Amino acid sequence: MDSEIKKIRTRFAPSPTGWMHLGNVRIALLNALFAKQHKGDFVLRIEDTDASRDVDPGGVQIMKDLAWLGLTPTEGPYYQLQRTELYQKYLEDLIKRELVYRCFETAEELEITRQRQIARGLPPRYDQAALKLSKTEIDALLAAGKPFVWRFKLPQTTVVIKDLSHGDVSFDLSNFSDFTLTRQDGSFTFIFANFVDDVDMKISHVIRGGDHLTNTAVQAALYNAFSAPLPIFYHTPLLCNTEGKKLSKRDFGFSLDELRQAGFLPEAICNYLGLIGASFKEEIMDMNALVQNISFEHISSASQVRYDVEKLRWINQKWITKLPSLELTKQLYPLMQAAHPALFEKITPEQFMQLVEPIKTELTTLKDITSLLHFVFEAPHPAPELLQLHHVQEHTMFFKSIVSHPATNAPEFLELLKQKAREEKRPLKDVLALLRIALTGAPTGLGISELGALLELHEIRKRMECLI
Ligand code: GLU
Repeated sequence: MDSEIKKIRTRFAPSPTGWMHLGNVRIALLNALFAKQHKGDFVLRIEDTDASRDVDPGGVQIMKDLAWLGLTPTEGPYYQLQRTELYQKYLEDLIKRELVYRCFETAEELEITRQRQIARGLPPRYDQAALKLSKTEIDALLAAGKPFVWRFKLPQTTVVIKDLSHGDVSFDLSNFSDFTLTRQDGSFTFIFANFVDDVDMKISHVIRGGDHLTNTAVQAALYNAFSAPLPIFYHTPLLCNTEGKKLSKRDFGFSLDELRQAGFLPEAICNYLGLIGASFKEEIMDMNALVQNISFEHISSASQVRYDVEKLRWINQKWITKLPSLELTKQLYPLMQAAHPALFEKITPEQFMQLVEPIKTELTTLKDITSLLHFVFEAPHPAPELLQLHHVQEHTMFFKSIVSHPATNAPEFLELLKQKAREEKRPLKDVLALLRIALTGAPTGLGISELGALLELHEIRKRMECLI
């Protein structure tokens, strides 16, 4: 690590133009972890320069999400909209040094040039037409009130950036377009404001998605223009779905809110995103363990890593079983109440806790509780075909003999049923599948002893009538 770096400072810099998704949660997590590992600062900066696309004014939801995930920043939030004077100052410096120039082309004109270049097999790039305008022409356009943007005159040099996963990466800037620093309405672009802020906020490490690599290349030219030391970068592999495509809204669990609604715990989400792309001996890790075990020195340099929702479910299941019973019940109760309001009127939180205890290891998400316990409140109506599929006719007599057998409680009764089936050498698989169908509606699912804990004896007897 460079000796001139005094304090480690990372930042999470979301644009409030959309809601948090797994990709940016992962970036926030990695920035928070890196800062924690080095006892540094983790800054939150809301990149809200594109006010027209803002869906989350003030980044209120972003902050709630970070708090929910346990990733509260140690500094900020800063808002780019409140920092335009600073960007203006940097811009004026560049204007004075003639490192930028005005462009008056409309979006349509630029598009025509682009199409022409493509048609001629040339890389689509700004053709620097505006550089050829004379002072008189510029003055006339300004006098006529023609809107313009500032572009940066990219030097025809090579820039080198340090990247934690890729090492030194060099870019030949002659392959890039002179990029814009402002928009026609006078607001500042992402590339420029993002650079100014990273310099001004003394960010030591920029951890962001691999899709920003080319932005980094042109931003490097800005660092050089201001003789500012470049931060160290880590361009993370992008998350892709099982088909190898960039993760998108269409993939389940892409949006953080979707995961939260489905009953994924924040601990599990952070745990999973911390694991992805690396391997660990012990995979269940809380924040402290992640801080201890994640190594940014030997980090994956793959261009993409796969998002595996099944693995996330597995981790979530582990985290659910770690929750203290009272806490778990508190989180499950409202879900259950919302799903079955009428049925649920009869049951108190204390009774509900009793129901949850025997089945908590079955929950891969909190929401599973609603389907898992539905049968407790409502007797199933098994289809005769389903019963036939499990050879009900061969066991009718058996069930008839057992149903009225004396027993004092449900667990005792079910134990007796199993014992008798064994004695009669009946295939236990079929007998228990039939019993489950009668009690819950499905041939597989909870263990027989869990069913004994959830249903009263008289209810079990009643539900078994469909077997007789
Ligand atoms: N606002 C940018 C984004 O959301 C930030 C990129 C960066 O971290 O520099 O993609």
